[in-house]
Amino acid sequence: MQVLCKPSDSSADLYCPICGRGFLLYWERSSRDQQEVTLPEIQQTVRDHHSGDGHPEAAFNIPSWPGLPQFSAAALLGGATF
Ligand SMILES: [Zn+2]
Repeated sequence: MQVLCKPSDSSADLYCPICGRGFLLYWERSSRDQQEVTLPEIQQTVRDHHSGDGHPEAAFNIPSWPGLPQFSAAALLGGATF
């Protein structure tokens, strides 16, 4: 399932285990069970940022999506605001 991660300076749903950067999460589906299954994948992606260029400044999708993040299913169904 797809999730949109949006960097956030205030409240956040997930914090980077390495630097503590916060991210708001917008889910394609509201099922808690499915969210919990996807969570480790998100944490791994956030960790992987540290072996690359760092965290993106803009919102991003997991799994990665070729379109604009604000038009992804996770953004639309999750009610993300840009
Ligand atoms: Zn970090």
